[in-house]
Amino acid sequence: MHPSPRVFLVGVLLAAVPVMAGSIGCNQAPVAEAPAGNGDAQLIIHNAVVYTVDTARPKAEALVSRGGRIVFVGDNAGALAMKGAQTRVIDAGGRAVIPGLHDAHGHFMGLGSALQQIDLRGTPSYEAIVDKVRERAAKARPGEWILGRSWDQNDWPKKEWPTHEALDKAAPNNPVYLTRVDGHAALANKAALDAAGITAKTADPDGGRLIRDAKGVPTGVLVDTAMGLVRRKMSEPSAEQLDEQVTLADAECRRLGLTTVHDAGVGGDTVDRYKRLIDGGQLRTRLYVMLRMPLDRLQPLLDKGPITNYAEHRMAVRAIKIGADGALGSRGAALLEPYSDEPGTKGLLTTPPDEVYAQTLAASKAGFQTCIHAIGDRGNRMTMDVFERVQKEVPNAKALRMRNEHSQILDAAEIPRFKSLEVIASIQPTHCTSDMPWVPTRIGKERTEEGAYVWRKLINAGARIASGSDFPVEEPNPMLGFYAAITRQGVDGQPPEGWAPDQRLTREETLASFTLGAAYAAHAEDQTGSLAAGKLADVVILSHDIMTIAPPEILKTTVWKTITAGEVVYEAR
Ligand SMILES: [Zn+2]
Repeated sequence: MHPSPRVFLVGVLLAAVPVMAGSIGCNQAPVAEAPAGNGDAQLIIHNAVVYTVDTARPKAEALVSRGGRIVFVGDNAGALAMKGAQTRVIDAGGRAVIPGLHDAHGHFMGLGSALQQIDLRGTPSYEAIVDKVRERAAKARPGEWILGRSWDQNDWPKKEWPTHEALDKAAPNNPVYLTRVDGHAALANKAALDAAGITAKTADPDGGRLIRDAKGVPTGVLVDTAMGLVRRKMSEPSAEQLDEQVTLADAECRRLGLTTVHDAGVGGDTVDRYKRLIDGGQLRTRLYVMLRMPLDRLQPLLDKGPITNYAEHRMAVRAIKIGADGALGSRGAALLEPYSDEPGTKGLLTTPPDEVYAQTLAASKAGFQTCIHAIGDRGNRMTMDVFERVQKEVPNAKALRMRNEHSQILDAAEIPRFKSLEVIASIQPTHCTSDMPWVPTRIGKERTEEGAYVWRKLINAGARIASGSDFPVEEPNPMLGFYAAITRQGVDGQPPEGWAPDQRLTREETLASFTLGAAYAAHAEDQTGSLAAGKLADVVILSHDIMTIAPPEILKTTVWKTITAGEVVYEAR
């Protein structure tokens, strides 16, 4: 039932983009060398309600940047006094101004690739998916791969895994590969299964499985590492397509007010691609990169040492990503006890604990942060055990700010370990509101109440929080995450009191988790995350004041302008 209103929402948001009065050119060059004195400010934003996320001055009317950095936060008169001939002046018209938002866990290329694929999010039935594939197949060349994303059988009347036959009829001449909403399962048609040589005799690979019918014949659904059997056979995207993925994702992030993305798992080629596009001025979103690859390929990159500041903080490469387990939706998350709705299954550790340890150790020795995907309580236990072990073995490893990506289903024993090990809880508020309809069925009432998405318990136990969306698993729009964090309700307002409402965050905590908290998780709290003199001028002007309006209005809130290093990189038309 859940994701359907989310799709509807996209239409609402697009329709709600305000028309700008008196459009101003957006490519004004920044003032590189600002002389001393009050003139030649690069940018002045005045007549605003500025939420600085700076405890020294929580609110202001105006701010000024020079040479890409904030030089003044204060009152209107003080700001306007700094106007020079080259200054761009933005009258915010009383709008809310917040620090540029971080998404602390997203997949940048994945977002770009998703923007190139058939969008199946919120489809109300399997038949609706088949229709969309048939439409695409009619336009495709024979043999061309048809890719789609974000279906969820929990949205359908019969919440069962689909089987491939209907897709074979819809696209008889094309291999079809459709990824589930959580990215941990996919549906392939017969042509795609054939391309991968998958038959009834194919064994489940380590860390994955093939869903089979009563006779043991694969039905087309591939879970976790089994997806690789088909994916390996797909034609690789061309260099141009990959560049397009970057620029599509970049434009989408700028539109949504995301000035920094923590890119949760990329390869070495992607880093080179980012560098080239940054150098060419085609990539404006700041990227905090987590490298993800087997240790033999990772080690040479670790040996080169961390990149803490590429191109004036456009990119940092100082973290690695490891997957401890799968996801809850496909029962791949590793649990200490069996799934409540499938007692034969405890989920999967997708990387052997020895390998998780070896990578964390190698990264820590090289001065890299380790970020581990952990969803189930067993995945989380293993993650925290590895962090603790490596912290004992590597001096100052705590200062690397290890991160638990997702921190989703926690045994009570894990909660105090976030503080004692100084591990950051990297959370995704929309995962909670997407999953809440079926989580109690999957893991039972007791485990749900004890440790499912328990943000308040984490904060009370002294954990640091960083928020993100895990796009393209969820939608990248941070307003959806903001709303989910403060309400724990779906976009339909259900349940009326919120789901486990005692675990909600306040608006201030939520804003901080998408800004300063996330910046801390990226070792960037001295550069971004709040609006204060000396920091990079990454700023978002919103259509509505999310710190005061009724929660449903947050869902209609759009970005009026996004500013990176004092330059307007998006403005609503
Ligand atoms: Zn992720």
